[in-house]
Amino acid sequence: MNNKIYDVLQIGYGPVGQTMAALLGKTGQSVAVFERWPSTFSLPRAAAFDHEIMRVLQGISCTDKIEEKVVPFINYHWVNANRDILLKIPYGGTAASGWENGYLMYQPDVEKALDEAVRSYSNVEINLGWRAEELNEHEDFVEVTFRKGEIPEPGKWVPTNEVRTVRALYVIGADGANSFTRNSFDIKSEDLGFEADFLVVDIRPNDPQHLYHLPEGYQVCDPARPTTVASRLGTEHIRFEFMLLPGEKKEDMLDDKKIHELMKEWISPEEGTIIRKIVYRFNSKIANKWQNNRTFLIGDAAHVTPPFMGQGMCIGIRDAKNLAWKLDLVLRNKAEASLFETYQVERYDHCKTIIQMAIDLGKIICISDEKEAEKRDQAFFSGSIPPFQEMPILTNGILHKNEHGEKLSPTGELSLQDFVRYQGKTGRFDDIIGDGWTMISTKGEPRNALTSNQIALLEQIDMKFVHISNVDSTDMVYDVNGKYAAYFNERGLDAVIVRPDFYTFSGVATMEELPGVVNDLVSQLHLKVSETLTI
Ligand SMILES: Cc1cc2nc3c(=O)[nH]c(=O)nc-3n(C[C@H](O)[C@H](O)[C@H](O)COP(=O)(O)OP(=O)(O)OC[C@H]3O[C@@H](n4cnc5c(N)ncnc54)[C@H](O)[C@@H]3O)c2cc1C
Repeated sequence: MNNKIYDVLQIGYGPVGQTMAALLGKTGQSVAVFERWPSTFSLPRAAAFDHEIMRVLQGISCTDKIEEKVVPFINYHWVNANRDILLKIPYGGTAASGWENGYLMYQPDVEKALDEAVRSYSNVEINLGWRAEELNEHEDFVEVTFRKGEIPEPGKWVPTNEVRTVRALYVIGADGANSFTRNSFDIKSEDLGFEADFLVVDIRPNDPQHLYHLPEGYQVCDPARPTTVASRLGTEHIRFEFMLLPGEKKEDMLDDKKIHELMKEWISPEEGTIIRKIVYRFNSKIANKWQNNRTFLIGDAAHVTPPFMGQGMCIGIRDAKNLAWKLDLVLRNKAEASLFETYQVERYDHCKTIIQMAIDLGKIICISDEKEAEKRDQAFFSGSIPPFQEMPILTNGILHKNEHGEKLSPTGELSLQDFVRYQGKTGRFDDIIGDGWTMISTKGEPRNALTSNQIALLEQIDMKFVHISNVDSTDMVYDVNGKYAAYFNERGLDAVIVRPDFYTFSGVATMEELPGVVNDLVSQLHLKVSETLTI
């Protein structure tokens, strides 16, 4: 056994694990990643992601490559058995994070960009073809034993006699729905009560624009066969998802003839190639424990959701972003390990709410009883279906409460990112100023409102102090589109403090309130403080 103790050892290299590895790579920690398969996963899965995730990807310099391969998710239509419109969701437009509200992707394109990002960090080692088999937590480190596998044919993993034991201060289980890491601790998952089998088929049409007459997302709420069509799965593919009806067998559904029969309304066998097909059981589960001492679960290892919101991977990437900044502070000895207690506290409810929203959609989409479907259609036509819920904000954890214990807007909301110009460079805020903790004011230099003790404490977490101005001069951060001014004015704010995962810790109506809010922040961060500073 090599005696080296890595900062972080990660089990699993799916899209969530890849994002985590890149986030940790950027912070400079020593990271060892182990993945069972010798290459990234090749089955069709995630199709969509949202603006918040694009901002995370921006922070690991992936967006140029990804933007070339994804398409904005602009329109999402639901139709009934007669193809009459039940609902039109205008999904397009620029969202708070400074990116399109949503995107459609071909997952391997995004994974390729993520993998390249990870490989650009020399502090991250990637070990492919190794399966984690044993995990032992010690007081000061964790030890994991891996076995090398051989792949005699695609999809078949055959164990060899070669094993390796690796140590790290912290372990991340990013090893998917059947997580070895989760099972090592016998952690239970709550079943949130949704299950349905769907045949998922990815097609490469001869003409990539073959289905461009349809909206990007086309939900066919036909009780005879609930179906989802993604007319643009990235730039070169399309996706069909067909619900299996009672009595239908998985093997029969995977027959090409059957698949062509199901797709005939949209594409003929001569017009495209089936590149992947699989029957998935969509279900909904959430682990009741996301941390065991030095080991954490992220992504599908911690939760699975039916894909009706296009959010499974997105939730996992939010886990990664949340945990990455906490690991960074603890590993750099800036914060106590008790900071990790906020990980599950912050992520659990947010995640569960989104899974519940997906289940609610699934229950409407998957109706296979004709009478029920007729009732649903009438409810849509008469406008009696309540509008869909907004995405949740962050409600628990490191968030400012006022003296009455209330969290007032914009606390917990995703922060704004727009274009700024500084020292002759124009771009999105994070590209020009950087990401991480940020204190932004349109009223003046935020440091002027704080004591030197407070500034020193905030420098410990690398807080960026930014005065965004309406004056376009080289040494000012200029609000190119006036969006920051509008945001602050509409909300009656003088300043905001934004967390590294882009959620707002607090806003203040006057600069005089800033010192009190900063005191609250440093008291919640579990900071390690030198004797010269006081909390
Ligand atoms: C049909 C379908 C459509 C979907 N659509 C969307 C969508 O539109 N948007 C969205 O956000 N999400 C979507 N999802 C969900 C999304 O695909 C998953 O949430 C996401 O892939 C989870 O990523 P992950 O990295 O956590 O886990 P995984 O992708 O499962 O990766 C886990 C990795 O860990 C490895 N591993 C497992 N055990 C071990 C071990 N013992 N040792 C070493 N390695 C191990 C595995 O080989 C795998 O590579 C969809 C899912 C499906 C099935």
